[in-house]
Amino acid sequence: MDVLLLDRHNYHLFQPLLYQVATGSLEQEIVAAPLRRLFRRGSGVRFRLTEVRHVDLSARRVITDSGPVDYDYLILAAGSVTNFFGREEFRRNAHDLKGLDDAVRLRNQLMQAFERAAQVLDASERDRSLTFVIVGGGPTGVEFAGALAELSRQLIARDYPELAGAAAHVLLVESLPHLLSPFPAPLREYALRRLRAIGVDVQLNASVRAAANGRVILEDGREIETRTVVWAAGVSATPLAASLNVSKNRNGRIAVRPDLSLTEHSEVFVVGDMAYLEQDGAPLPQLAPVAMQAGRHAAHVILDRARGRSASPRPGQVRAGRPFRYRDKGSAAVIGRGSAVFRFGGVGASITGFVAWVLWLGLHLLYLVGFRNRVLALLDWGFEYLRFDAQVRLITSDSERTG
Ligand SMILES: Cc1cc2nc3c(=O)[nH]c(=O)nc-3n(C[C@H](O)[C@H](O)[C@H](O)COP(=O)(O)OP(=O)(O)OC[C@H]3O[C@@H](n4cnc5c(N)ncnc54)[C@H](O)[C@@H]3O)c2cc1C
Repeated sequence: MDVLLLDRHNYHLFQPLLYQVATGSLEQEIVAAPLRRLFRRGSGVRFRLTEVRHVDLSARRVITDSGPVDYDYLILAAGSVTNFFGREEFRRNAHDLKGLDDAVRLRNQLMQAFERAAQVLDASERDRSLTFVIVGGGPTGVEFAGALAELSRQLIARDYPELAGAAAHVLLVESLPHLLSPFPAPLREYALRRLRAIGVDVQLNASVRAAANGRVILEDGREIETRTVVWAAGVSATPLAASLNVSKNRNGRIAVRPDLSLTEHSEVFVVGDMAYLEQDGAPLPQLAPVAMQAGRHAAHVILDRARGRSASPRPGQVRAGRPFRYRDKGSAAVIGRGSAVFRFGGVGASITGFVAWVLWLGLHLLYLVGFRNRVLALLDWGFEYLRFDAQVRLITSDSERTG
């Protein structure tokens, strides 16, 4: 097998910890691993840094910025993009948290907001700088809101004597009547209680109508003056998926057969956030374990075919490979220092609090790519836990979106 990996970035990104880059707990290098280091000489995988523009499915050719690439088998795993629900104004004025650049930009924005608040004389402008609106109460919004509330308290108490007596206003806006939709009700309620206990202003059944000119307007007419809006309201299909003339679901994810291949092109597999497949009557979630297990499965189906283990029913036709079955091992979300919710897959059990938080830390360390990154993350977390002190406070650019 000659395996070629194409990516527009030269690193693998561990998205679950991106929010910690944005809130200064981790350096950006810790959540990213260079692909050429992962696939060194002898690994059997070649890497090319390039943007994929299109796939010519009938010619079996990938069109990239560095020229066409022909294939026998193709695995599409281009992920998803932030869903701004088609509103250009949100895309322009809000920060999202999808790529490494987004996280660093958001950290710059947060640190700049504190600097500005420390300098302005006008109290309303100071309050506006210290007001942070997060849209979306799923795992990303909840984890970010909790970490930001704690960061704000630390910064004001220790680094900004000018802000003595002031407090940040971290507002989490969720359109549903509860947070953390994918989790069972007791875990949602725990998360809500914990967030409120650490000072996050959670507004349920509330959605954003407009966000521009330093102001967020909610559907019920309430207006919030803010310079920082963070968009964590979900993901949608990549432009690459949109460009392909194949069956898709309503959200633009590509519909695949049970073995993860395309009905129209059995040599093409789609995995991860880009793929749409139902299991036991429900769509598979856009989560890292689904993507990892599906990637492995597609590779096995291709190997089976290459070894002639799945004979074609008729010449020219390919029999579908063995069906993919996602093994849900559980999911977790951190609420703040020392507290998390953890749902175990299969057995239906769940835990909350400190033990859940330790489990969350352990699992994230385990899945973080690269030994060095794990050691550095452990050191940063240990230091922060003992000293209540975020690691990264640098402002490395002055670009900002002002809500
Ligand atoms: C902030 C955040 C927090 C998350 N937290 C969790 C969590 O706690 N637990 C969990 O299970 N899941 C979490 N997820 C979801 C999880 O990260 C995704 O489900 C998973 O990464 C999907 O894997 P993927 O391989 O499909 O896509 P990705 O991991 O997004 O990889 C797609 C790759 O394709 C490349 N690419 C895209 N388009 C092109 C192109 N046109 N040309 C070249 N390269 C391209 C990208 O550079 C990227 O490297 C989180 C996601 C985010 C954004």
